[in-house]
Amino acid sequence: MPRLVMKFGGTSVANLERIRSVARHVKREIDAGHEIAVVVSAMAGATDQLVGWCREAAPLHDAREYDAVVSTGEQVTAGLLAITLEGMGVNARSWQGWQLPILTSNAHAAARILDVNGAELLKRFQERHEVAVIAGFQGLHKETGRITTLGRGGSDTSAVAIAAAIAAERCDIYTDVDGVYTTDPRVVQRARRLDRVAYEEMLELASLGAKVMQVRSVELGMVHNVRIFVRSSFEKPEDIDPRGIPPGTLICGEEEIVEQQVVTGIAFSKDEAQISIRRVQDKPGIAAAIFGPLAEANINVDMIVQNVSADGATTDLTFTVPAADYQRATEVLIKVKDRVGYERVDGANDVAKVSVIGIGMRSHAGVAAQAFKALAEKGINIRAITTSEIKFSLLIEANYTELAVRTLHSLYDLDK
Ligand code: ADP
Ligand code: ASP
Ligand code: MG
Repeated sequence: MPRLVMKFGGTSVANLERIRSVARHVKREIDAGHEIAVVVSAMAGATDQLVGWCREAAPLHDAREYDAVVSTGEQVTAGLLAITLEGMGVNARSWQGWQLPILTSNAHAAARILDVNGAELLKRFQERHEVAVIAGFQGLHKETGRITTLGRGGSDTSAVAIAAAIAAERCDIYTDVDGVYTTDPRVVQRARRLDRVAYEEMLELASLGAKVMQVRSVELGMVHNVRIFVRSSFEKPEDIDPRGIPPGTLICGEEEIVEQQVVTGIAFSKDEAQISIRRVQDKPGIAAAIFGPLAEANINVDMIVQNVSADGATTDLTFTVPAADYQRATEVLIKVKDRVGYERVDGANDVAKVSVIGIGMRSHAGVAAQAFKALAEKGINIRAITTSEIKFSLLIEANYTELAVRTLHSLYDLDK
């Protein structure tokens, strides 16, 4: 029998009414002859509240206990959905990460899935025609026996890993938008839904700010060739023909995309901070002396720009770090001041990174140059630039984010 994974995010299970609607989506697919594993998130807002409680209890807390707390949101929804399905006459049972088990590394709060036991699910599909309702976001570190979580948005990753483990025909990601758009449809009304997007592009979109899919889930999908279909849970379940093709976006291999545009989408992130080190000595070993200690402190440095200072003898070094690490990064730099030798550190939290993504850029020159011109015409100053084969990113003042995204969206013909 064809097998499907159906994943429902927080807004899709926000209350009992929404959970009943989810159960009807599941029943539709069961009635169409599918074997189903469902993966659920916590109710909308639940994880934020749990995270908030941990911070309130103690700003610096043990990550193992944080995981014990924040994993509970998914336990609730998995149980409630199983109860609801049973009430509708559908055989179902809930599974927590440790029960299946879903084995992970011990990087608490950001654990990676190592192995998923799909055999028990397959056995129960066959013997009991039972729907598996699995708590997303959580797993087990085998050696310590402790519960882990996969990082925010991690239920997407649970779903794709389970789809790979049971060789599902498709992994449906049901959410509050009906697919992946050229940019966040809540910010740009003219954003267009993409019928298909390549894994590599989705990887860039996700890691550069489009939180519709967790980055790690796309990586896993790419490695195991899982067909991921992003669609809406807000349509009436009974209006959907399980054999038809509903509105949505298929994340798939590049070779399956027939009409390739130069630019596929635009992502943005305001969770950036800029640090500029002024008048650094211009001599070998300085970059290592600065970026080494930052790496040791586990701070991810992203865009880096170096230019000669006004005096010609020293250099200015500008780079970005995640906004959450801004304070820590500044402290690290102050500690190494004597060793490095610089005049001062300037910083700004009010910056944003806007990124343009498209596989078509591999074979087209001048795509970024068009952006520089269009943004200049709007009076938007670019503070730093990075490029790679299928994307470029621009650092700008945060106030201009929406204007920049809309400008680039029109420039590359993405408006609907
Ligand atoms: P869920 O709770 O279902 O996991 P998320 O909130 O994690 O849902 O992801 C869905 C949200 O992602 C949408 O509401 C939308 O605002 C946002 N989003 C950002 N970029 C995009 C994009 N390019 N396409 C679609 N949605 C996007
Ligand atoms: N509930 C978790 C979160 O809010 C995981 C998820 O929803 O994917 O991050
Ligand atoms: Mg999500």
